[in-house]
Amino acid sequence: MSHVHDSIMGPSKQPEDIRPVVLIIDDSHDVHRLLKARLRQEDVEFISATSGEEGLQIAAVRSPALILLDLDMPGIDGFQVLRLLKDRHETRDIAVIVLSGLNTAADKVTAFDLGAVDYVMKPFDISELRVRMRSSLRMHNLISMLAQRAQVDGLTGLWNRQYFDRRVEEDFARSLRSNRPFSVAMIDADNFKSINDTYGHPVGDIVLQGIAKMLNRELRHTDIACRYGGEEFVVVMNETGIEDARATCERLRVACQETVWPRHPERHVNISIGVCGSDSVFAGTAEDFVQMADEALYTAKRSGRNRVVAIHADEVLKARLKVA
Ligand code: GH3
Ligand code: MG
Ligand code: MG
Repeated sequence: MSHVHDSIMGPSKQPEDIRPVVLIIDDSHDVHRLLKARLRQEDVEFISATSGEEGLQIAAVRSPALILLDLDMPGIDGFQVLRLLKDRHETRDIAVIVLSGLNTAADKVTAFDLGAVDYVMKPFDISELRVRMRSSLRMHNLISMLAQRAQVDGLTGLWNRQYFDRRVEEDFARSLRSNRPFSVAMIDADNFKSINDTYGHPVGDIVLQGIAKMLNRELRHTDIACRYGGEEFVVVMNETGIEDARATCERLRVACQETVWPRHPERHVNISIGVCGSDSVFAGTAEDFVQMADEALYTAKRSGRNRVVAIHADEVLKARLKVA
């Protein structure tokens, strides 16, 4: 779901107390006034559009949880708006309640066929609209929670591997299109097996949670921290060139090294990091970057652990082009 996708830092960082946004699309100003006045007790934020065109624009930018959509409007009508909302990736998951002055079975069937979740007759009974609105919001909330849960790692609360695989492709493609800076860092806990062996697996789990917390604390909100698997993590750094990425990784390494663990204050935990990045992406694939970060990580491990090794992607890719 797009609004989930837009939260950058891992689901644990999402604000929980923001009110859901409800967009009213109706050409009649009276309807806007009436709804806002009669439904002002609801725990939602109402926003308005007075044409289909404006409604589509606002929907894409604000990602409302729910749209109350008038069918009969000049310009593009409600059915057309519904069709376009469902066509577009960013607006596909928004719940839509259709408001209509016509009470024909054919209209209702069309509305549901096009993806509306409910249909309310005009002039509406406000208490009926209120309960239908609440029920749609509840449903929307459950669906987003499920969608999000499928992308979240259960132990650490970071984004999971599946999410990373999709996200790194999308973000890399955007950086390549616009020749922007882009980096990927692979992080692996050092000698983690011996932590488990010494203190037990549950204590190892607490360490992994602690590393995740440290990542959330130290990274920027545009960095995407994921659990890659086991005791490995990966960070997608958008708009970050190789030197900035290296400095960030160095900060992570030190933060980890300095952490005092309540369960074993005598034993520190270190991480090794391989990072690969470009100041202006011009070639290659997301997979190339991940692979190079992995190679850098391997070098960091081989050369003694608790260190950061950086690979400048541009140099590798240029050399590769020359050979070819
Ligand atoms: P290196 O410095 O070379 O990375 O050594 P290492 O011991 O960290 O690496 P190795 O790959 O040998 O061991 C990784 C260990 O991580 C083994 C595995 O049991 C442990 N591990 C993987 N996932 C989890 C987990 O979810 N919880 C716990 N407690 N341990 C895990
Ligand atoms: Mg490992
Ligand atoms: Mg390890």
